[in-house]
Amino acid sequence: MDRIAVIGRGMIGSAAARHLAGMTDGIVLIGPDEPADHTTHDGVFASHYDEGRMTRISDPDPDWAVTSKRSIERYAEIEDESGIPFFSNSGYLGFSTGGADYLDRAESAGRALGADLTRLDTPQIHARFPFLSLPDDSTGLHEDRHAGHISPRAMVAAQTEAARKRGAQIDRRRVTGLRAVSGGVEVETDDGAVRLAEKALVATGAFTDACGLSPTDLELRVFGRTVLLARIDGELSEHFARMPTLGHAESGAYLLPPIRYPDGHTYLKIGIGSVEDPNLISLRDLQHWFRTDGIEENRIRFRSFLLDLMPRLAECRNWHSRSCAVTWTATGLPYIDHVLDDRIAVAVGGNGKGAKSSDDWGWIAAHLIAGRDWEHPVDRKRLRLPGR
Ligand SMILES: Cc1cc2nc3c(=O)[nH]c(=O)nc-3n(C[C@H](O)[C@H](O)[C@H](O)COP(=O)(O)OP(=O)(O)OC[C@H]3O[C@@H](n4cnc5c(N)ncnc54)[C@H](O)[C@@H]3O)c2cc1C
Repeated sequence: MDRIAVIGRGMIGSAAARHLAGMTDGIVLIGPDEPADHTTHDGVFASHYDEGRMTRISDPDPDWAVTSKRSIERYAEIEDESGIPFFSNSGYLGFSTGGADYLDRAESAGRALGADLTRLDTPQIHARFPFLSLPDDSTGLHEDRHAGHISPRAMVAAQTEAARKRGAQIDRRRVTGLRAVSGGVEVETDDGAVRLAEKALVATGAFTDACGLSPTDLELRVFGRTVLLARIDGELSEHFARMPTLGHAESGAYLLPPIRYPDGHTYLKIGIGSVEDPNLISLRDLQHWFRTDGIEENRIRFRSFLLDLMPRLAECRNWHSRSCAVTWTATGLPYIDHVLDDRIAVAVGGNGKGAKSSDDWGWIAAHLIAGRDWEHPVDRKRLRLPGR
């Protein structure tokens, strides 16, 4: 019998498994690898099938800021322990072209945690980042140290490898059922086999409700997202060589600097949440969405946004898009809470920014399911399901 089964080998689940394996034996981390071919796959997918996720301390919400800081402080430890690098310190620039107070709030939460922040006016932004074309009354918030991007694929691989080295078992099957039984839980996998565990932590992201893995309906809201990628080569590589990750306060647009992808090419990426994004409810909805390349309206709009912001991207001849999904909770924070006495807990709800803080959400979830007491700047009540 396993002591604790962590279901979902994504950003939060793999982090929780590493922390748990440092506390006790009997840990199993269950979840499939990324499918080789997204277009024909008929199992589950994940929100981390990519090479770039922004990471930084500054965030308008102090709970997200502090969990990012605590996670970022452990990136080097995870890289060393696993031997798998995943963090690039490119820096971050938040910019505002209107009156939003996003940057003020992000600055205030970041400064309280000692983030390396500088406010910039438009000439200063242009001096540091000459490839940007911004209106004259723009303002910026630059974060230099401990900010940039992570490869979410590599981070999951690193957390998984570190958990394995600490003694966790890795089970690459999909979970099809989770039931409470006398003295523990039964975890059924897609080959019809059953594992018995004393406890289970469900960290299956966007697929949690659709797979029916929580005995309590979490009422997560899952939305499809489109991202657009521009291939950067030749002279453009030098032009964008010092590009930080970028976030636009008013539109919510986020941009990743040129990053190498598994096909050997380097791509600059943009994503923006939009009203066209589909609400994904059933497993069939999710599977169908992940097999697509996103939405045409988004591709057109994102490209036009990019060309306004970085005019030399007009030289790019090679563009493509991908689909992904975000999982929203009613609280804006992940739910990290028991859903069946002390035997089943969940750690879900990245709210579109769960990658950067994933190690710390996993740390909290590990303490919860292990039955350990913990001290953490985020009040645990804020991570409970609404109404508890
Ligand atoms: C386009 C896009 C851009 C983003 N950009 C950023 C960013 O810049 N910065 C940032 O911090 N965050 C970003 N995010 C959010 C971040 O990627 C997610 O919040 C994060 O991946 C959530 O982690 P998770 O562990 O909850 O889910 P996932 O990483 O999706 O992991 C869930 C895991 O559960 C597994 N699973 C599902 N069902 C089952 C099952 N039945 N049995 C077994 N395993 C199962 C899946 O295979 C997967 O591995 C972005 C998300 C998207 C979609």
